[in-house]
Amino acid sequence: PIVETRHWPDEQATHDFATRLRDAIAADADLGNAFIALHGDLGAGKTTFVRHLLQALGVRGRIKSPTYAVVEPHTAQSGLAIHHFDFYRFNDPREWEDAGFRDIFAAPGLKLAEWPEKAAGHIPIEDLAIKIEAMSDDTRTVILQANSARGARLIKGAPA
Ligand code: ADP
Ligand code: MG
Repeated sequence: PIVETRHWPDEQATHDFATRLRDAIAADADLGNAFIALHGDLGAGKTTFVRHLLQALGVRGRIKSPTYAVVEPHTAQSGLAIHHFDFYRFNDPREWEDAGFRDIFAAPGLKLAEWPEKAAGHIPIEDLAIKIEAMSDDTRTVILQANSARGARLIKGAPA
């Protein structure tokens, strides 16, 4: 896989990366079908990244965090369907089928997932893994890993 390390000094850097990803998706419609997984401890900045990406994609209104619902659906300004998962409280394997998660991952649209580790065994391989680590000076070290051609195009489309 393609692996790249980035440094995000502040939240503006999170915003800039989200904006570049938005531009890459706008230029290559298939990237809108990507599955992007966010790895990192509590407080790393996973939800913050998702919010910046949703805003860049023109999602309107209050952006709810899916912690209790596991998934929040959104629609981009372009009409692109986006599902934001947070598997932190995922613990019932039956929910994968019953709540239609399999169908969401099989359908077109952008899939964003926090805590994918908690759904291991169900969740497909991510096109792009974003691993965020908060450093002692509050900056972020970010590892991007592409596991597919789509993931590689996302990284290429969002250069540092
Ligand atoms: P997570 O979803 O990984 O638990 P959050 O996105 O809720 O983490 O972020 C936790 C805190 O980190 C928030 O207060 C947010 O403002 C801060 N934060 C997020 N990204 C950055 C960044 N790139 N630089 C500095 N602080 C950040
Ligand atoms: Mg979060």
